[in-house]
Amino acid sequence: MATNGTNGQPHREAPKQNGKAYEYVDHEFDVVVVGAGGSGLRATLGMAEQGLRTACITKVFPTRSHTVAAQGGIAASLKNMTPDSWQWHLYDTLKGSDWLGDVDAMQYLAMEAPKAVYELEHYGVPFSRTEDGLIYQRPFGGHMQNFGEGPPVQRTCAAADRTGHAILHTLYGQSLKNHAQFFIEYFAIDLIMSDDGRCTGVVAWDLDDGKIHRFSAKMVVLATGGYGRAYFSATSAHTCTGDGGGMVARAGLPLQDMEFVQFHPTGIYGAGCLITEGVRGEGGYLVNSEGERFMERYAPSAKDLASRDVVSRCMTMEIREGRGVGKEKDHIYLHLDHLDPKILHERLPGISESAKIFAGVDVTREPIPVLPTVHYNMGGIPTNYHGEVLNPTADNPDAIVPGLMAVGEAGCASVHGANRLGSNSLIDLVVFGRAAAIRAGSVIDRDAANPGVNYAACDKIMARFDKVRHANGSNPTAAVRERMQKAMQEDAAVFRTQETLAQGCERVSAIWDELSDLKVNDRSMIWNSDLVETLELENLMANAITTVYSAEARKESRGAHAREDFTERLDADWRVHSLATVDEAGKVTLTYRPVHTEFIAEGMPEEKMAPKKRVY
Ligand SMILES: Cc1cc2nc3c(=O)[nH]c(=O)nc-3n(C[C@H](O)[C@H](O)[C@H](O)COP(=O)(O)OP(=O)(O)OC[C@H]3O[C@@H](n4cnc5c(N)ncnc54)[C@H](O)[C@@H]3O)c2cc1C
Repeated sequence: MATNGTNGQPHREAPKQNGKAYEYVDHEFDVVVVGAGGSGLRATLGMAEQGLRTACITKVFPTRSHTVAAQGGIAASLKNMTPDSWQWHLYDTLKGSDWLGDVDAMQYLAMEAPKAVYELEHYGVPFSRTEDGLIYQRPFGGHMQNFGEGPPVQRTCAAADRTGHAILHTLYGQSLKNHAQFFIEYFAIDLIMSDDGRCTGVVAWDLDDGKIHRFSAKMVVLATGGYGRAYFSATSAHTCTGDGGGMVARAGLPLQDMEFVQFHPTGIYGAGCLITEGVRGEGGYLVNSEGERFMERYAPSAKDLASRDVVSRCMTMEIREGRGVGKEKDHIYLHLDHLDPKILHERLPGISESAKIFAGVDVTREPIPVLPTVHYNMGGIPTNYHGEVLNPTADNPDAIVPGLMAVGEAGCASVHGANRLGSNSLIDLVVFGRAAAIRAGSVIDRDAANPGVNYAACDKIMARFDKVRHANGSNPTAAVRERMQKAMQEDAAVFRTQETLAQGCERVSAIWDELSDLKVNDRSMIWNSDLVETLELENLMANAITTVYSAEARKESRGAHAREDFTERLDADWRVHSLATVDEAGKVTLTYRPVHTEFIAEGMPEEKMAPKKRVY
C-alpha cells in the first residue's frame, strides 16, 4: 500500500518473464530512499524538506525498523552534565575504531553531532531531562574525558531506554509532514544500473498486491540496515538481512571491512535480546562464578565501561577458564540489584521488562544471565562522508558510483572502523542521513529529466526473481539459512584462528552452492513470506561470504577482529580497508583501499591522533 498514493506516472509496457506476465507500475522521483530506519527517515526528511520529490520504500512499517529497538542513546558532546568537546568525541571514536576509521568522516561525525541532536530535539524527540531541563546524558563504553585520560564522560543523550523508538516516531511524523511519499511493505529487489555504471533506480515488489514497481530516480539511497541475521544468535531484528549489501554485491560493487562484526557483551543468555550498555553506564557490573568483578582486572580505568570488543573478549576468556556461571558455566552475570529501584524504573524500564520476560529475572533482586551476542556490522557499503557510494579503482581509491548513496548500518563511511562505540550508531544515522540530503540537494539537477528505465537491466532483475520464485530444488530456505547461521557463529566468532576461518570459508562456500538448488514452496505474489525469506537469504549470503573471506585474509588483530594466531595490530601492513566483491559463482575477490588520515577542519591536536596501543 502506498500511503500517500503513487505519483501517477504513466505505466510503461510490461515485459514478460518465463511466459508469465508480471504487472508493472512505473514511477519517477528525484530521490528514492530504500529503508525507513533512523538513517533512511533522516535522509528522506532532509530530501523532502528541500522540495526534492522523494520516495521512501520499506519492507516493514517505518516504525517497526530495527532502530526502534535502540535503547541506550545517541552520542553528542553537548556538555550538559560533564565537560566534553567534539575533539574528545573524535579521539574516542578513532581509538574505538582501533585506528581503522576514516578520520575525515569521524571528524565530520563528532563536529556535526551536537547540531544533529538539537535538530532532533526541535523536531520533537522527547529526550529525558536533567533537573535544569537540559537533555539528559549518560556514560557509555569507551567515551571518556580528556582524550581518554580522564573519567568517563556523560555524552550519550537518552530518552529513557527507548531512544531509538522516540527518534523513529518523530522522524516518521516529520517526513509525512514534508510530503515524502511512502511505499510501505514493498520489498526492494535490486538496483537498476545503467550500462555505464550509474544507478538509475530500483525495482521493488509490493508485498500486499503482488505488483512490481520500477522506480526511476536521480539518486537512490540505500538505508537497509545491518546483516546480524547472518549469525545464529543476534540482537538484531529478523528483518536485518543485509539487503542493501546483497543488491550492491549483485551490481558488481565491493563491500568494505566486512570482517568487523561487533559482539555486544550483554545479550540475554539463550534469548539473544539486548540489555543496553546504558545499564553499565548507570552503574551495573559484570561478575564471574567467583563473584569477582573481573573487568577491573582487564581494564583498570574504564572497567565495565571498556569498549565492547574488549568486554566481550574478557567475558569469553572468563568462561573459557572455567569461571562462567550457571549449570554449564557458559555465561556471566550482570548485576543491577544494587541500584536504586527508582532509577531503574525511570531510566531503564524497558530492560527491566525484557529481563523479566526473557530470563525470568527481577532485576531489583537478581542478576541477569548474559553472553556476548552479535549486535552490529561495522562493515558495509563503502561511502565518503557525504554518503556517496565508492567504487575504488587502481587510479582513484575514492571514485564514486553516480546516482547511489548509502547511509546507516548498511553503509561504511567509515566512522566505526574495526569497532563501534555504543551510542555512535544512532548519531551516525542522523548525521549521515542529513549529510546525504545536503549532498543530494547540491548535486541533483531538479530541471533535468529522469534517467530512462534500463529495460534490459530490469529484465535481468526479474529473471532472477522469477527463478527464485519457482525454485524447485532440494534445499528448503530455512535449512540453508540455519546452516549459514551456525557456520558464521562457530567460525567467524569473538576469537578467530586460521583453522576456524579457513573452515568457515569452506563451509560458507559450500552453502553458497546450495543456493542453486533451493526449494520455495509458495509461488504466489501476495504476502509470500517464503519468497521474501529466500530473497533475504540470498542477500545474507552475499554478506556472510564476504565477511568470512575478508576475515580469513586479514592476518592481524584489530578491534572486533581478534585472531589468536596474529594477536597484534599490524599498522604497517593492515591499516587499510578491505574491499570484497563476490560473483554469481560465489568467488570472492579482495582488494584494499587506504584509510583516510587527513582532517577536514582545523582544531584537533594532531599528535593525539597517532595510532597507539588501545588500552582502557
Ligand atoms: C537491540 C539493539 C539496540 C541498539 N541500541 C543502540 C543504541 O542505544 N545506540 C546506538 O547508537 N545504536 C544502537 N543500536 C544500533 C542501531 O540501533 C542500529 O545500527 C541502527 O538503528 C540501524 O539503523 P538503520 O537506519 O541503518 O537501519 P534499520 O533501522 O535496521 O532499518 C532498515 C530499514 O530498511 C528497510 N529495508 C531493508 N531491506 C529492505 C528491502 N529489501 N526492501 C525495502 N526495505 C528494506 C527496512 O524495512 C527498515 O525500514 C542498537 C541495535 C540493536 C539491534
